Amino acid sequence: MKCDIFVHVDFQNWNLSWVGHGAVLNIDGEVELDSIIMDGETLATGAVASVRNIANPVSLARAVMEKTDHVMLTDRGASMFAERIGIPIADDLVTELERKDWEQSSSFPVGVEKFFNTQWGHDTVGAVALDSLGNVACATSTGGIRNKMVGRVGDSPIIGSGGYADNRSGAVSCTGHGESILKVTLARLILFHMEQGKSATAAAEASLQYMGERVKGCGGAIVVSSTGDWAASFTTPCMAWASIKEDVLHCGLNPKEDFTERLK
Ligand code: ASP
Repeated sequence: MKCDIFVHVDFQNWNLSWVGHGAVLNIDGEVELDSIIMDGETLATGAVASVRNIANPVSLARAVMEKTDHVMLTDRGASMFAERIGIPIADDLVTELERKDWEQSSSFPVGVEKFFNTQWGHDTVGAVALDSLGNVACATSTGGIRNKMVGRVGDSPIIGSGGYADNRSGAVSCTGHGESILKVTLARLILFHMEQGKSATAAAEASLQYMGERVKGCGGAIVVSSTGDWAASFTTPCMAWASIKEDVLHCGLNPKEDFTERLK
């Protein structure tokens, strides 16, 4: 089960600390986290890659966006920046459950295979939002894929691949096989189709199908257009998602699932 959360609420007071702690482990049994955040009004963006000791890397990505002249910091530089601005260092992000799963796992290709063919647990979290003024934003945060090489950076922190937001079209956050998503720049591809007139669902489905055909990669995306059209689409066995629009909650996990509830 991958854990994408689709948010469709007022962005003004969006609190980003919802992104969970811990992650899958790399080949050396360590956590390395990737994250991006983007503001569709100004195209401001911040990202961190291969950070090891930050509980909420998306908060650090936001600080890169708001407090530096740069778009991305990696590994040591990201940790030094976190320390300088007072983001706490988390000593142990390795959960017991993940350590056990990692001990029983063998290689990156096996991890990718499980990712595509089973309802295997996963740790990527994404969000997209539209506020009452028509501003969109996206955020994506992940530990990547189990047994990745040390220093491997996936799609998640890469602008246009793991996420993109532009008020002129919409916002997207992606999950799935990072190397495939990178090759087709999935988030921008979805927005390109929307710019050409497709609905959010049609754009996400066409782009995911293209990724499957062109590079044999599976994945998923949550999408919101700047007019409020939204989608949660995936070609993996499942993707946990939820959306709130006005007082209606939608959520699902398996293909074609859409539970609806009116919120009080
Ligand atoms: N896309 C992420 C990566 O390849 C993994 C995921 O979405 O679960 O790093």
